Amino acid sequence: RPLLPVVGADLPLPVLGGGTRRHVHLDLAATAPALRAVADAVTAALPWSGSVHRGAGLPSQVATARYEEARREIGTFVGAREDDVVVVVRNTTDALNLLASAVAARGGEVVVVDVEHHANLLPWRTGAHRLVPAATTVQETIARIAAELALRPAALLAVTGASNVTGEVLPLERLTALAHAHGARIAVDAAQLAPHRRISLAASGVDYVAFSGHKLYAPFGAGALVGRRDWLDAAPPHLAGGGAVVEVRSDGTDWAAAPQRHEGGTPNLVGAVALAAACRTLAALPEGALEAHERALHARLLTGLEALPGVAVHRLFDDADDAIGVVAFTVDGLAPGLVSAVLAAEHAISVRDGRFCAHIALERVLRRPEGAVRASLGACSSLADVEALLAAVERLVTEGPAGEYVRCDDGT
Ligand code: PMP
Repeated sequence: RPLLPVVGADLPLPVLGGGTRRHVHLDLAATAPALRAVADAVTAALPWSGSVHRGAGLPSQVATARYEEARREIGTFVGAREDDVVVVVRNTTDALNLLASAVAARGGEVVVVDVEHHANLLPWRTGAHRLVPAATTVQETIARIAAELALRPAALLAVTGASNVTGEVLPLERLTALAHAHGARIAVDAAQLAPHRRISLAASGVDYVAFSGHKLYAPFGAGALVGRRDWLDAAPPHLAGGGAVVEVRSDGTDWAAAPQRHEGGTPNLVGAVALAAACRTLAALPEGALEAHERALHARLLTGLEALPGVAVHRLFDDADDAIGVVAFTVDGLAPGLVSAVLAAEHAISVRDGRFCAHIALERVLRRPEGAVRASLGACSSLADVEALLAAVERLVTEGPAGEYVRCDDGT
């Protein structure tokens, strides 16, 4: 059974041949449905649509209090230290772009592994960075990172918490110790990790974490960058405008300290409230419950897919000892886009295909320039979802597609 209820879990979708089927959502790594608790929090916040940090009226006062409370809850969710800053941004991409401009402003290089999602690769490419090619094992990849950090000082090591392609999780505490031993800070792209594992900046020593609400069972439009204050106070304002300043004169501007410095414009009250509600709901689960739920489903998905003839599961590393419920696979003789189209049209199952905004991972490491299919699960998934996918892939392997399909997206 699902661990947490979400909005739209019973959505009936039309299927080829007529009729409808319950939607099986196994594309949570792209965007997860909203938790019911999140929808309730948004509904409760909407009547108090006052402008955050602007206005003496009661709606504005309530909105401001709720926004700042949401900020605190988001920080608590990732175990923020007392002096850490929580910047409410649009998403992980936004968070990492902000951090990239902070690093550029202070100077210094960023070390990054090449299999990252583009959100944790391209922002660094706008400045001084060194790209470490991932090896076929975690051990060797860490050795390469260590060698790169030892070569000459770097300001930051930027790594993913969990791969959006294969779900593999890197040993963050080891990487943190490594970065710190070489005088660098560490930033973790937790877009995929945060919905599945507890994160604690205080306990792990990680300096910065970035994540997105829409992958964490909240709707779109809000994410967070959480971490050390000094770089964020010194960074150029991420969004220059009202609210980001202390004083504006004819001859200059006194910028506010972080987080306001980076949150120019009217704050996203509903986004922050939704994200905080998702954080609160996940944090309230009994210790280990989410991980146990997802591990059981993940194990069944892996063994089920691996048992099907002509189906290959892909991994970046031979020795990763942990992974979240994200599985990349291909079916011999069938293009990934065809597989995902058949799953959607004939079975009402949502998965993703393509190169998952991680082109180097797909091409250089997995050697799949044509992409792969990705199934991803979470707190709202059930064994029935996994069995439905396995049965549908089995039918596709044995009988082939029932209809003809035309690609309608760009598969990137
Ligand atoms: N990093 C990873 C690992 C991701 O999976 C994603 C989203 N696919 C991102 C960053 C970017 O997240 P967003 O699109 O919400 O900015």
